[in-house]
Amino acid sequence: MMIAKILLPLPVPMTYSYRVPKDMQPAAAFGKRVEVQFGRKKLYTGLIIEITEEEPFKKLKSIRDILDEYPIITSDHFRFWQWMAEYYNCFLGEVMNAALPAPLKIDSETVLTLNKGFEYDEMELDDEAFLISEALSLQSELTWGDIESILQKSNVKKNVNELIEAGIVDVKEKAVRKNTHETIKTLMWSDEYRSNMSEAMEMVRRSEKQTRALLAFSSIRSQKNLPISRYEVMTKSDTDHATIRALLKKGVLIETKIKKKFLGELKFRGKLPPLIGFQERAMSEMREIFEEKSVILLEGVTGSGKTRIYLEWIREMKKTGKQILLMIPEIALTTQIIQRLESLFESDVIVYHSRISEKSRMEAYHSIRSGATLVIGTRSSLLLPFQNLGLIIVDEEHDKSYKQHQPAPRYHGRDSAVYLAHLMNCRVILGSATPSMESQLNVKENKYGYVRMDKRFGHLELPEIELIDMRQVTMTPEESEIKFSPYLLQSMHQTLDAGRQIMVFQNRRGFAPVFLCNHCGHIVQCESCDVSMTYHKYSHKLQCHYCRREKSVPKECPSCHFWEMEMYGYGTEKLEEILNQFFPDINIDRLDYDTASGRKRLERILTRFANNDTQILVGTQMISKGLDFENVGLVVIPHADQLFAFPDFRSSEYALQMLKQVSGRAGRKKERGWVLIQTYNPDHPVFGALLSGKDELFYEEEIRERNAFLYPPFYRLVKITFRNKNRTRNNQVAQEFYNYFVRHFKDRISVPVPPVISYINHFHLLDVFIKLEKNSREGAFFRKHMNRFMEEVRNRPGHSNFRIIVDVDPA
Ligand code: ADP
Ligand code: ZN
Repeated sequence: MMIAKILLPLPVPMTYSYRVPKDMQPAAAFGKRVEVQFGRKKLYTGLIIEITEEEPFKKLKSIRDILDEYPIITSDHFRFWQWMAEYYNCFLGEVMNAALPAPLKIDSETVLTLNKGFEYDEMELDDEAFLISEALSLQSELTWGDIESILQKSNVKKNVNELIEAGIVDVKEKAVRKNTHETIKTLMWSDEYRSNMSEAMEMVRRSEKQTRALLAFSSIRSQKNLPISRYEVMTKSDTDHATIRALLKKGVLIETKIKKKFLGELKFRGKLPPLIGFQERAMSEMREIFEEKSVILLEGVTGSGKTRIYLEWIREMKKTGKQILLMIPEIALTTQIIQRLESLFESDVIVYHSRISEKSRMEAYHSIRSGATLVIGTRSSLLLPFQNLGLIIVDEEHDKSYKQHQPAPRYHGRDSAVYLAHLMNCRVILGSATPSMESQLNVKENKYGYVRMDKRFGHLELPEIELIDMRQVTMTPEESEIKFSPYLLQSMHQTLDAGRQIMVFQNRRGFAPVFLCNHCGHIVQCESCDVSMTYHKYSHKLQCHYCRREKSVPKECPSCHFWEMEMYGYGTEKLEEILNQFFPDINIDRLDYDTASGRKRLERILTRFANNDTQILVGTQMISKGLDFENVGLVVIPHADQLFAFPDFRSSEYALQMLKQVSGRAGRKKERGWVLIQTYNPDHPVFGALLSGKDELFYEEEIRERNAFLYPPFYRLVKITFRNKNRTRNNQVAQEFYNYFVRHFKDRISVPVPPVISYINHFHLLDVFIKLEKNSREGAFFRKHMNRFMEEVRNRPGHSNFRIIVDVDPA
């Protein structure tokens, strides 16, 4: 009997066997998706990962349908999934879940219906679930697209999955259709209005949204001659499906299916400026190294032209026809590089990250599988089904945001890239101005090649960095309130007078960190997390930065009922306000998580600054990454000591990286830049390394300590988090875990410790750290016993949901 082993996109420890009916046998093959029934009535999309001939010893269900004509993953890629599950200690189904765009798991054409037999309490649904269930009770059937317009957002995967999992909606039988993604839908002018824009505008005059959408459409149209999707128009104009549908109904626009683009050859427009001497040298060194090694660490000071080198490699690789992946840490600030790439290459660059719609994700998925050449994306783009990968570039390889935290697989983008490249026999460039200690060690051990560029383009000198020793400074009460020394203020005036711009770096958002009672010292805390709440002036509310819960500002102290609550300390928002007082005639903007929530807002802030419409930009680490502005004369870090205030063995390394990156924003064109850092700890070794520009000593000392205390990169750190609402139960299991493993790991396992924030959203947390030996069987040993332990715990009464989170190489 032909049996298929099916992998489901679920956190379950195994695969499941299904019978392959006679008529499907010729089509059954590794890597194709199937529709199967799992559990009582649920239909899932699974993946065939093995086919065998055997007689089963129990009755098996049959596969209901084979969904793909061609496999959607290759065996190489599957091996990558397996590695990821193994190395990062998670289930293969979780990797599958992360890798496949939602529509490949539940088809995008999936018709959802209300599960009539299921009783649920409306009170238990969140707003969005309620909207969907309400619509379903009126309409009986909804498609993916309907749900997108009901919720007015393009990423509804989570909502749909939740509803299915909660049993509230069902996937309609036979609804899971085969893929036909060879075409895409595109918006066009209707014949009637193509050459008559003013009449078209007249048609939509009464609707502000439609006007916006139409203007967006016409502006995109004028910029490119490529298919325009609904999503582009909706995103650009901040409108929704309903708006587009109205435009279609009025006959202003039409929507048609066209053959997929993307597959065209990558054409270079040839507008790259020539490499200069030291860049040329770096290129030839790299070519030489690639003869022997497949990974190169490219260390180049900020502004040396690393991005220029990446473009050169992309141009070179494209001649070979192989696929290229340019990885970037965080999408928010990559618009600059995306624009640069898109303007350089004629055929579409595939942009892939967590914020694009499921539909775009799927288009990207299929394009890559069919051989599209160039992807720029965040860590998740590693999971795209590359056919023929020739080069992975990891930009800012030291960046912590390459590490996935939640949910599993908790993988590191840089490390996984190196492994994927190894599997696919492709090259890797790791680029950074401040390489991670991991990569530095790999260079030392001769595993990676190393190329360095220590000059800036245009013979610009690196910025001049000055420390201001705050212990020596006398300030007026006004200055003292914000801890801006007279020298700092004077320098800012001087910079502005010279017509240059300033960036102010503050590693904390919000207005004031805490609301403090002047009388009893009480600090307003979040009730479900063990943290103080942050005041946000904009909303006049207190917000918890962990669970996002908001609270209104108390009129009196909740503890002693004294009325004098006061703000203490400050974040970016407060800083912005104070700077407005000090510089009343200057335009000041702020870039942080609060102001840059939408891509449009973010772009507006960046454009204003680039055009000199704002002179001072205040921001969190968001301003430290990769931004390239011409006219920044001064970078100010008023409260540098905050950077060391994290209990993490990497805090010095991170602080140096951050300071260098932020400093690197100054003086990138024309004149030399200037950086002013205020600190109460001017003797800290990080400042020594920063000021001298010689960090060898700093790193030697760090390396020595890491080695002595068995930390990465010498040992592999694993963090095990126990998370439960019941504190006693949590303590008990964590302690048992410790007892179980301490026999083997001795002093390489820590006793259970509460993390800095030990209570989040009503859950108690405890961490245990284990330092595993590298290159040994310890990984396998740990995995085996960890799974054994977990299983044993879950089998106890009342523990079936007990959560133990394993984070390998936490960052
Ligand atoms: P990095 O990525 O190392 O910070 P970039 O590649 O962004 O450096 O280069 C810094 C600045 O110098 C950019 O504005 C870039 O356009 C410019 N630049 C770098 N190399 C060249 C070159 N060969 N010709 C012209 N401009 C260059
Ligand atoms: Zn909270």
